[in-house]
Amino acid sequence: MPVAPGESPGANDAFGALPAACRRRYRPRVNGWHTPRPRHDWALFLDVDGTLLEFVDDPGAVRAGSGLVDVLDALARALDGALALVSGRSLAQLDRVFPDLSVSAAGLHGLERRGAAGVESSAVALPSHVRAALRDLASRHPALRIEDKGAAIAVHWREAPALEPAATATLRRLADALGPGWQLQPGACVLELKPALRTKADAVRAFLAEPPFVGRRPVYVGDDLTDLDGFATVEALGGDAIAVGPRVAARWSLPDPASVRDWLACVRAALGSPPGACAGGGA
Ligand SMILES: [Mg+2]
Repeated sequence: MPVAPGESPGANDAFGALPAACRRRYRPRVNGWHTPRPRHDWALFLDVDGTLLEFVDDPGAVRAGSGLVDVLDALARALDGALALVSGRSLAQLDRVFPDLSVSAAGLHGLERRGAAGVESSAVALPSHVRAALRDLASRHPALRIEDKGAAIAVHWREAPALEPAATATLRRLADALGPGWQLQPGACVLELKPALRTKADAVRAFLAEPPFVGRRPVYVGDDLTDLDGFATVEALGGDAIAVGPRVAARWSLPDPASVRDWLACVRAALGSPPGACAGGGA
């Protein structure tokens, strides 16, 4: 297909099924988009914070807009249900962020998982002294935010980067005392103490072993260190990893959550066409 004026040659040129508005957005040199061609046989795994939604000072206040919910719902249907949120948030938190969305999801970095067979959880109880110690830390440093996820707990210093050493030292001391069954999970301006049982990659592999994900080409979109094992897993299975923003790298990339939302809308538009319209992709 001819390249539109101002459109750069590259992997995104052959989007014949895309509406013109989407084709105009596929300009890698302008928008920083570098993405695989949409396919009807994708199994799509989406991180949430920093990928679908921008980071905010108070993670508990995040709510997805209705436009994003509508796109995710339509995409899940276009992929016969093979779309899953894969997040460090708990499933209960995800349901609050996406109140009207019913899709598969993995929470707490894979400790919780809701698929076609229902909800399974391998979460263990967070010891009460850990919760107490971190609440004490937050009382001495009010700019720190404690995100209590039930089976895991995170300390955010986005509003006060100078407090990173104090938060890290406290969490490291608590983790060392708990022993090998627990681990620290670093993220963007956050450190989380969680059971060392599962990762997001475990959740991806579990989804891919069951309908409607089984046999599909996995695509993982994420922005942070917690997503790197998901990247490696889908690439090892012949799929595609898409890195969002500057913290991680992969074969494909999008610059920020706003571009991820735009890209998903374009993928949804492309997959709304009959199967075959997007076949033979640039991936
Ligand atoms: Mg993230």
